[in-house]
Amino acid sequence: MRPIAVVVEHDAGGIIPVTHELLACARILADQTQSSIVAVIPGKGDPAMAKQIADLGIETVDLAIIGMDGYNSEAYKGALFQLFTTLAPLYIIVGHTATGRDFAPGLGVRLGGGSIAGVNHIVSDQTGPLFSRPVLNGVKNALVRPDASPCIIMVQPGAFRVQGTSFACPARVTAMDIRFTGGTIQPLGIKTVTTQGEDLDQAAVIVAAGRGLGERENLDILERFAALFPNSVVGASRPLVDDGWIEYRFQVGITGARVSPKLYIACGISGSSQHLAGILGSELIVSVNSDPNAAIFNHSDLCIVADLFEFISAFERILQRHP
Ligand SMILES: Cc1cc2nc3c(=O)[nH]c(=O)nc-3n(C[C@H](O)[C@H](O)[C@H](O)COP(=O)(O)OP(=O)(O)OC[C@H]3O[C@@H](n4cnc5c(N)ncnc54)[C@H](O)[C@@H]3O)c2cc1C
Repeated sequence: MRPIAVVVEHDAGGIIPVTHELLACARILADQTQSSIVAVIPGKGDPAMAKQIADLGIETVDLAIIGMDGYNSEAYKGALFQLFTTLAPLYIIVGHTATGRDFAPGLGVRLGGGSIAGVNHIVSDQTGPLFSRPVLNGVKNALVRPDASPCIIMVQPGAFRVQGTSFACPARVTAMDIRFTGGTIQPLGIKTVTTQGEDLDQAAVIVAAGRGLGERENLDILERFAALFPNSVVGASRPLVDDGWIEYRFQVGITGARVSPKLYIACGISGSSQHLAGILGSELIVSVNSDPNAAIFNHSDLCIVADLFEFISAFERILQRHP
């Protein structure tokens, strides 16, 4: 049986959280196709990282470690080509991230297969899995049936919910020494962006500010409102980022982050297709807007037609009375 392969994303700090979403996607495919899962860690062969993946308790994971340091697109494509030629996976799951977008399409071509970018959902019919990906700037989703194999599935971060594991069974760890020599790309090093505070993809609650905020100073009100919820952060629609009110890393939408918090509270956001493309993975969407016809209400679980400032102060008052 051909396995489902997952290419683990990692950096100097260890495994990047999107890897858990890749494994969640792989689990869906493995269940649909009755396949096993192989997690591949391209890197110098860090046993601690291998153990971390093994400890996720995914029963049928084999770990293959290939020997190379840092990210290098040529080396990734060369080494993974060798590995997957032997392994013959049915699907290869990769993050639709800066790294994945860099190496996956070329790898798909070399393997004689293909790749589907931005996959956000999987369904199946009698012919097998169908992959959903956004088209028309995120307004619609297209269902794609791959006709080439292996197919690289590039998973949209935030689209697949990470499931807890109910069992822990040590995976088999296989160290495969695949050296890639030659190549013309010489990595010069990695510069880390220094950020402070919470990140959108780690927050359980996102309070998002839109142009309805009116003035930059009003962001303080939203910060205070967000602080009422544990593990929360303030996000924003694009105009606030374009105007320099808030850093780009807090922008939600098609050209920002796609998020999947437990609770997304949109304050003064109209609900453009570009913004909606980033929030539909949220478990619960609450919108506060003074316009009863605001488009965001069509996609919200709870619609609050109100001035956002009046709503927030009423909320704070009630909370003071009933802490
Ligand atoms: C190629 C491209 C990519 C884009 N990418 C993104 C993206 O990634 N993310 C993104 O967000 N946008 C993106 N945009 C911009 C997008 O088209 C919209 O312009 C933007 O989302 C609108 O932001 P908004 O909802 O905050 O503002 P508006 O559309 O101006 O909406 C403001 C809302 O606030 C309400 N309001 C006003 N005052 C109050 C009040 N006191 N209380 C309550 N409600 C109030 C109004 O009724 C209105 O609905 C992109 C556009 C393009 C062309």
